[in-house]
Amino acid sequence: MSLLIKDEAPEKLIDENGKRVDGRGLKDLRPIKMEVGIVPNAAGSAYIEWGGNKIYAAVYGPREVHPHHMARPDRGILRVFYRMATFSVHERKRAAPGRREKEISMVMENSLSPVLFLELYPDSALELFVEIIAADGGTRCASITVAALALADAGIPMRSLVTAVAGGKADGKLILDCSGDEDKAGEADLPVAITWFNNEISLLQFDGIMSLEEFEETIESVKESLEKIHEMQQEALKRKYIDIRNDIKENESEHQHEGGDQEI
Ligand code: UDP
Repeated sequence: MSLLIKDEAPEKLIDENGKRVDGRGLKDLRPIKMEVGIVPNAAGSAYIEWGGNKIYAAVYGPREVHPHHMARPDRGILRVFYRMATFSVHERKRAAPGRREKEISMVMENSLSPVLFLELYPDSALELFVEIIAADGGTRCASITVAALALADAGIPMRSLVTAVAGGKADGKLILDCSGDEDKAGEADLPVAITWFNNEISLLQFDGIMSLEEFEETIESVKESLEKIHEMQQEALKRKYIDIRNDIKENESEHQHEGGDQEI
């Protein structure tokens, strides 16, 4: 028996009934869970499980910019550090950040900055650390989605949230939310992020081949699922405050009980 885990995409990504390898329909999202406020040392934080992806985002600052030459006297900067843990993928990833991590950090900065009021923080940096604990395709989209929650959790003024998901093409069919296998063996991968305050696309990357009609159809289905994911983000933020309110109520009633006992 071999203990090696094979990292090979299956030959067929979509069966004759239109089902994908993980049982999803063509336009189905993978299961998504989000939680806000889970890193105690950060100004704001969030966690997302999106299919096989597990990702933490933590926000620090605004604080002094190092190295100083990166500082802007008229406005703050957003710095993103997207990192994949060495154990996050089948084949051990090198610990040092590679070109891909630097590229994703940069596209995350570009896709999140439009919703921030960076002019409020001259000479300062907002720093956003994104740690990929497990990766299975679509980590940049999941990272943008969870990073927006961490920024909101930090109380950073924002024009709106940002949400991202990838459309794609596999076995000749248009699909949504590509898994790692579909990303690797599929024909196209099209990650998209939206800034809700102006309904503009702040990330659009494209890897593969698709006709113009297919591209337009993909953008339409991406838009529909972005709305669903945006609702989940809002629910995750609300849940944190409902939990805090319930904790306060519980504490108050415990104090009342304690007070009552003393009187007796
Ligand atoms: N991946 C990997 N090793 C790496 C980088 C990526 O196995 O060093 C996998 C990982 O599952 C990732 C997927 O390839 O999610 C697709 O990577 P891509 O660069 O397309 O970015 P993503 O889809 O994660 O945004």
